[in-house]
Amino acid sequence: MKYYSTNRQAADASLEEAVVKGLASDKGLFMPYEIKPLPASFYDEIDRLSFQEIACRVAGAFFGDDIPADTLDQIVCDTLSFDVPAVKVKENIYSLELFHGPTLAFKDVGARFMARLLGYFIRKEGKKQVNVLVATSGDTGSAVANGFLGVDGIQVYVLYPKGKVSEIQEKQFTTLGQNITAIEVDGTFDDCQALVKNAFMDKELNAHMQLTSANSINVARFLPQAFYYFYAYAQLKKLGKADNLVVCVPSGNFGNITAGLFGKRMGLPVSRFIAANNRNDIFYQYLKTGQYNPRPSVSTIANAMDVGDPSNFARILDLYHGSHEAICAEISGAIYTDGQIRETVREVYDETGYLLDPHGACGYRALSEGLKPGETGVFLETAHPAKFLQTVEDIIGAEVKIPEKLQAFMKGTKQSVQMGKDFVSFKTYLMEQ
Ligand SMILES: *Cc1c(COP(=O)(O)O)cnc(C)c1O
Repeated sequence: MKYYSTNRQAADASLEEAVVKGLASDKGLFMPYEIKPLPASFYDEIDRLSFQEIACRVAGAFFGDDIPADTLDQIVCDTLSFDVPAVKVKENIYSLELFHGPTLAFKDVGARFMARLLGYFIRKEGKKQVNVLVATSGDTGSAVANGFLGVDGIQVYVLYPKGKVSEIQEKQFTTLGQNITAIEVDGTFDDCQALVKNAFMDKELNAHMQLTSANSINVARFLPQAFYYFYAYAQLKKLGKADNLVVCVPSGNFGNITAGLFGKRMGLPVSRFIAANNRNDIFYQYLKTGQYNPRPSVSTIANAMDVGDPSNFARILDLYHGSHEAICAEISGAIYTDGQIRETVREVYDETGYLLDPHGACGYRALSEGLKPGETGVFLETAHPAKFLQTVEDIIGAEVKIPEKLQAFMKGTKQSVQMGKDFVSFKTYLMEQ
């Protein structure tokens, strides 16, 4: 399968090129030339298949031209080492719990898949070591570091701003050892990102070592997110609840929802999507007005959705050939303030005992306000509430039990390399590796 750039100025890329480069040379996002529909027989029997079986079929449609079937199936099964159950919260509203992976957030799926795919390309080509650089303000670093942990031939450098990530986030990428190096930068997240960007542009450094990025716009992180939309449908079909299915996605950079839209193109019977946002309402305003006006993000308690210029908007526009009308026919929007998010977490907890995280709360509320008679809704619960411990405990006024996986990270010993924010020090350090 060939990949084109949404900006249409760069040469087509193979899957391998698209994965190693991340972003096209014209700064566009890679898109596959074809989105292959799956046959009706697949949808007929989907409720009798396991998550892994379903995901292997979906992966085959995306990557089957480029990777031998047994290798691809192995990558999929290794990636999905945890379940993604659809849990009933209220009549006709289900939570698709994407937080049972190693770092308790949905980004585990894409990061684990990308690491294994890159590992395959390295072995196939007999390449020397590939070095992944990633700047993080907290959550991306942990998903990428844990996703790549122990994968042969890949060395990961996680750059993070000293003193600006929570202790629990920091532990998730500084305690791993093996092929993961945490670099503690005396600066801000923007300084970390600038160091990574400069490294990619530095000729001498790139001649010395092969560098690549594990950014969330990478096709190998983005496309595998489609797997669990199919599995959600399968679980609801088993319950006889899949006829008028509405999927609601708490969205920031819009990668997660775009993977769902790809699923619909492949024939997945979802009747419509809702993009739930916090106060960063750029997409919501686009739906209302047809105008896309990015602006600086504002901070909210659903901070993984604090995005002022959603990078995957380019993919959505491309998918619908720029038609505002076509986009509005399949996607609607909802926006919530921090006050409304708090109110939702508290009410749902009091009424049902189900504890939402601040992102999932936006998804739940959009369904509870927007479902029409006869529809069933499933929202993506994108992270475990314990990842936002203080916020959630303050809202419900009770202690939240920390899952063992998170506790295990807390017991580890932090190891990091101290770094200034100037590029010369960072380059010197990398040249010595
Ligand atoms: C990254 C993230 C999101 C936003 O996902 P996008 O694909 O960027 O839209 C939502 N919730 C949580 C918990 C996240 O970590």
